[in-house]
Amino acid sequence: MKISVLSTLAILLTTSGAFAQILSPTGNKPPTKPEDTEVYEPVPKVVQADKAFDTPPSDAVILFDGKNLDEWVLSRDKSPAKWKVENGAFTVNKPSGDIQTKKTFTNYQLHIEYLIPSYITGSGQARGNSGIFLAATNGKAGGYEIQVLDGYNNENKTYVNGMVGSVYKESIPLVNPAKKAGEWNVYDIIWTAPTFNEDGTVKTKARITAFLNGVLVQNNYEVQGETAYIGTHEYVKHGPAPIKLQAHGDRSEPISYRNIWLREL
Ligand code: MG
Repeated sequence: MKISVLSTLAILLTTSGAFAQILSPTGNKPPTKPEDTEVYEPVPKVVQADKAFDTPPSDAVILFDGKNLDEWVLSRDKSPAKWKVENGAFTVNKPSGDIQTKKTFTNYQLHIEYLIPSYITGSGQARGNSGIFLAATNGKAGGYEIQVLDGYNNENKTYVNGMVGSVYKESIPLVNPAKKAGEWNVYDIIWTAPTFNEDGTVKTKARITAFLNGVLVQNNYEVQGETAYIGTHEYVKHGPAPIKLQAHGDRSEPISYRNIWLREL
């Protein structure tokens, strides 16, 4: 199911891109024949993907394969990440704080799985809160957060632009496909980084498309700026950036992550 949804999206994106290429640059002549809108190059690169979709495709950058956190550091001082690795997953450790990738990225397709334990307590924003910062920046807000939070069956009441699947404090998810605490959830996220002018102003805003458990929750959403808990969201010029995972600090943690990889775009 997940593969078919993603495949459909890929076809739609390819098709819309094809029209954009045909219609804009050459003479502004509208297409009149089928061949006018048939694009043959560039030919998409062939990659090997597992049918189960649980294993990364052959061109993926592996960020966590279940064994160690060698690709991650603590955000606060860039020392080795100290979240506990066990049974192919690692678990949020609040005292050590947020962790982030050693590598930096611009545009990518990210796959990441998370689990909120079945014995979770707390409510609202204090119920299984973590988050995926798609570009960890040096700005005041520290980047752009896709929320991780218990949201099963809409039983955990909170503001909907801060629920699971939201671009935090910006965009409400289209639907809520979150699984029950104690079951693994899967995010597949397409991140298009913002671009900036020399003077620091925004040239093009960031965009986010996100699937949660194979279901579209953000559809090419145009990001208004870095996540802000209070106030308006603003951009601060940045380049390639790490991906950061939030240690929010609920007493009812631990939240776990596994199987993290991305494909640079
Ligand atoms: Mg969060």
